[in-house]
Amino acid sequence: MIDLHTHSRASDGTDTPRGVLEAAASAGVTVVALTDHDSTAGWDEAAAAVADTGVALVRGIEISTRARTPEGGISVHLLGYLHDREHPALLAELQRTRDDRVQRARRMTERLADDYPVTWEDVVAQTHGGATVGRPHLADALVAAGVVAHRDEAFATMLHPGAPYYVPHYAPDTADAVRAVLAAGGVPVMAHPRAGRRGRVVTEETIAELAEVGLAGLEADHRDHSADDRDRMRGLARELGLLVTGASDYHGVGKQNRLGEHTTDPDVLAEIEERGTLEVLRPWTR
Ligand code: AMP
Ligand code: FE
Ligand code: FE
Ligand code: ZN
Repeated sequence: MIDLHTHSRASDGTDTPRGVLEAAASAGVTVVALTDHDSTAGWDEAAAAVADTGVALVRGIEISTRARTPEGGISVHLLGYLHDREHPALLAELQRTRDDRVQRARRMTERLADDYPVTWEDVVAQTHGGATVGRPHLADALVAAGVVAHRDEAFATMLHPGAPYYVPHYAPDTADAVRAVLAAGGVPVMAHPRAGRRGRVVTEETIAELAEVGLAGLEADHRDHSADDRDRMRGLARELGLLVTGASDYHGVGKQNRLGEHTTDPDVLAEIEERGTLEVLRPWTR
């Protein structure tokens, strides 16, 4: 069972990187990709847990990007697999995004503080050292303050892009991010391309343009997709010659997504490994 999209405390998941592999082992997942938002800070701890959990690790990332389209900017999450984490261009973009995420979270906290009992210190207290800061950490601070019951409630109300507290953050252009992942020897796959609950989604024309630039795959099987979305993404992938993946987007207790609820075909993983510059870390070859 292969699950190619998970988050740890290095971003907005609630498990440690080791904890993600332990949870994968319990769930019967044999290969897991750790894809924290805009960060590879969890890779080393996860790699160190491969041997004793028996779970193989795909080192990955989920890059926050923005696609420039005729309809305006649309947020796109780009998964990158098995790339060189030291590649300077990619590293610089990720640093810029993470830095601006801190400024953005501060500004959102200031706005929230006008109406709710929450301070920047409360948000920092919810963020593990060096983690990519995101709205989920603001949600956790609001939960701790007793303002909302859980992350989901915060996202449905004050953290929603339509709410007056919302502030965007810097994100690289999607096509540039695809090129950067390729330049770093990685395999770029668009995460949940049809997840409309988060905001507007890109058109099939935009996906076709990204395929021209080198996008390698589409995450068709994801809980935020309807059966129709999955069929359409499969059809589009076939048309454009893209790989099809499926994954849970596990965030620990931060979201309902369960490890292994969607999976990727072994042949697709073999192709990703073939194209990627890093190897999958397997307990059985160590
Ligand atoms: P940000 O990247 O800081 O704008 O925050 C977006 C992140 O919030 C996404 O990566 C999701 O993991 C998370 N998120 C979005 N909606 C929800 C929700 N309803 N409940 C929990 N987490 C969510
Ligand atoms: Fe997330
Ligand atoms: Fe995502
Ligand atoms: Zn994700």
